[in-house]
Amino acid sequence: MKLFRIPLWLWLLLIVAGLGYAFHPYLLEQLNQLEQKRLLSQPLPQVSEMPQRLDFQRQMADLTYLASEELAGRGTGQPGGLKAQQWLVTQFTAIGLATAGTEGYLQPYQPTSGKAQLMKGAANVLGRIEGSDPALPLLVLTAHYDHLGLHQGKIYYGADDNASGVAALLAIARYFKQHPPRHPVLFAALDNEESGMWGARMLFEQELLKPEQIKLNINMDMLSHDTNKQLIAVGSYHYPQLGQPLLQLQQQSSVRLLLGYDRPAWRVGTHQDWTLSSDHREFHKRQVPFVYFGVPDHAHYHQPTDTIDNVDQEFYREVSETVLDAVLLFDAS
Ligand SMILES: [Zn+2]
Repeated sequence: MKLFRIPLWLWLLLIVAGLGYAFHPYLLEQLNQLEQKRLLSQPLPQVSEMPQRLDFQRQMADLTYLASEELAGRGTGQPGGLKAQQWLVTQFTAIGLATAGTEGYLQPYQPTSGKAQLMKGAANVLGRIEGSDPALPLLVLTAHYDHLGLHQGKIYYGADDNASGVAALLAIARYFKQHPPRHPVLFAALDNEESGMWGARMLFEQELLKPEQIKLNINMDMLSHDTNKQLIAVGSYHYPQLGQPLLQLQQQSSVRLLLGYDRPAWRVGTHQDWTLSSDHREFHKRQVPFVYFGVPDHAHYHQPTDTIDNVDQEFYREVSETVLDAVLLFDAS
């Protein structure tokens, strides 16, 4: 029979490939656990208290409003989403940011494919603080303000995802208004992340931003849920120059800052690769370095239970101060 003419080495190869395919979910899970072990073996620094530079009371009030019934989960184009947009304009005005959209602070746009096409009224909210050194490139701080909104009669409040990031963005903007940075800083509250990251994409497609003008994107998405004090900093695998400042940040923070979730499975062994999982994707696609700060997935992720009651306030405060430290470190370098 012809079959027997297949050489032994090819048989072996086929068997190994077959077994590998059959067991790959199991193997990936094992690798993921190894990666978790590696991450959690990073020492928790001895910093017991973070400085209190941000107005946390105000920040919690902002988060509470963004995650309120009135805003009904901030679905793009839904009444709650449009209300959130207008409220952000009021906040940017009160802080005294320079307008950086195409219509004042707003950058309206229309998604052109997928389910997002049906969403009318999408817009980013963009404000800027000039740096003391005008020759320096831009730092772009991003946080998406949209969430799943009203869906099948239920409100998806999105307190952690991502009212927490937006309230931190506002708090950090207030801080830098009082303590001007060296680099110019763009504060971008982005729309449509949940439906294809259209907000981030449109920054580039409408040419509000050019990749070569940007030093770094710092993206905040889910900052307030405490799982063993873990905050993940994603990005240094792709941009090794970020490793040193992030390791310094690790020593300065009272939370457990873990560098990872950015390696392909074949390389280090995790299938938790968040390189493309939020708005920083659009920066990375254009070779702009990014750091994404977020907490591990939790039971309230994309559930109607992602409410203000499930925000871990002290942890969230420490995380926000850590992100501020990150911006200060990158602004100084
Ligand atoms: Zn999110």
